[in-house]
Amino acid sequence: MELTLFSISGLQEKLRAKEISPIEALQALEQRIASVDERVQGYLSRDFEAAMALAKNADVSLPLGGVPIAIKDVINVQGEPCTCASKILRGYIAPYDATVIARLKSAGAIPFGRTNMDEFAMGSSTENSGVKPTLNPWDTTRIPGGSSGGSAAVVAADEAFAALGSDTGGSIRQPAALCGCVGLKPSYGRISRFGLVAFASSLDQIGPFTKTVRDAALLMNVISGRDPQDSTSLGEPVPDYTAKLNDDLKGVKLGMPREYFIEGIDPQVDQAVRDAVKHYESLGAEIVEVSLPHTEHAVGVYYIIATAEASANLARFDGVRYGHRASGVKDLLDHYGRTREEGFGPEVKRRIILGTYVLSSGYYDAYYLRAQKVRTLIRDDFTRAFENVDAIVCPTSPEPAFKIGERSDDPLKMYLADIFTIAANLAGICGISIPCGFASVDGKKLPIGLQLLGKPFDEANLLKIAHVYEQSTDWHKQRPEI
Ligand code: GLN
Repeated sequence: MELTLFSISGLQEKLRAKEISPIEALQALEQRIASVDERVQGYLSRDFEAAMALAKNADVSLPLGGVPIAIKDVINVQGEPCTCASKILRGYIAPYDATVIARLKSAGAIPFGRTNMDEFAMGSSTENSGVKPTLNPWDTTRIPGGSSGGSAAVVAADEAFAALGSDTGGSIRQPAALCGCVGLKPSYGRISRFGLVAFASSLDQIGPFTKTVRDAALLMNVISGRDPQDSTSLGEPVPDYTAKLNDDLKGVKLGMPREYFIEGIDPQVDQAVRDAVKHYESLGAEIVEVSLPHTEHAVGVYYIIATAEASANLARFDGVRYGHRASGVKDLLDHYGRTREEGFGPEVKRRIILGTYVLSSGYYDAYYLRAQKVRTLIRDDFTRAFENVDAIVCPTSPEPAFKIGERSDDPLKMYLADIFTIAANLAGICGISIPCGFASVDGKKLPIGLQLLGKPFDEANLLKIAHVYEQSTDWHKQRPEI
């Protein structure tokens, strides 16, 4: 088997048996990237020199020893560019490692490349990248999803064994679904965000993109846990996420939310997800209907809270401290204005303006405060549902990957791509997307994702439930012809 086709677990067997070296693993990726990334455009940059230096001394007995990992361009890796795919951060080099990177490195992993994304993680298609769009490896006339589209595409195209991304409203799960890989959004507080460029601080989480559920568990083992440098990271014990993977589904109850099986979903997606639910039943799970009555407000609430927080977080990009600086300015105000005018793309500007508006005096109560109240209702919906079920099962995305350019002029339509993923971020719960079938569109196979949502800090159970399904299907084994 081609080396790049391996999962992390498969690669580790080879590394530990000394059948291959970490350097050979990196070289195989380098070759694969050279042959396909021109068509996928998943990477913004790679640093094989630095990676080779780590690979030379890699200790393969460590939990991720010698395993190369691709990193979304929103997470700081010391000495590497970190631009959030934005012109305003062009040329910015990270002065330190994010906590997740420090943890990966001490577990022996090798961060080697920066993956493309929607600028500052705002978007659902990676078309908002200030550098270039990423293309879906299953059909390069289509988007890979977003905002972590680069991470999803490089894992799907076997240009990486695994990648890290970030998820504020669906940015790990939705691209994982559209590219046919596994994407996990951990519970709020599970993973340190120290060194993650903030978009919406009450929603952002870092998480893994992998080829298998087991690999997601392996990465979670390393990156989870309390970090004194991020006060929002919590001290809940970190279990061995691989320990339960092979348990069965006896006694497991899965909830199908009435509000997620609605008209307007692509019929092939609806069918694949219903088939997956039946499959779960045949594997011994009990299926019950649940209701999440405030679902219809999730997108509206998200676009108030996320933009409000973004407008505050992005104020630091003023041309004084980081990246791009406008030249020939008249005075300080002109300096701020021109730098931001030149540096930010249209979607980022739209969000800053929206966020500033909902926080302004006179509108704060009507929008922001009210959104916070509805957010509580959405969280309560989940708390109530989880009194009855172990996890919730639903589609990740209402449709398969759409065409490049199809939504670019219609932000509202683009926002609806996250209709099934956003509520999990608002509620702080964990969620995973796993491959559950293919749609056939214009003679092409397009991946479909199944979303499982779990209780806060219940990643171990979520991974088990996902793993049982994965092991009895072969959707995850299929590879795009790229
Ligand atoms: N697509 C959503 C947005 O545009 C979510 C992005 C994300 O999760 N980072 O905000």
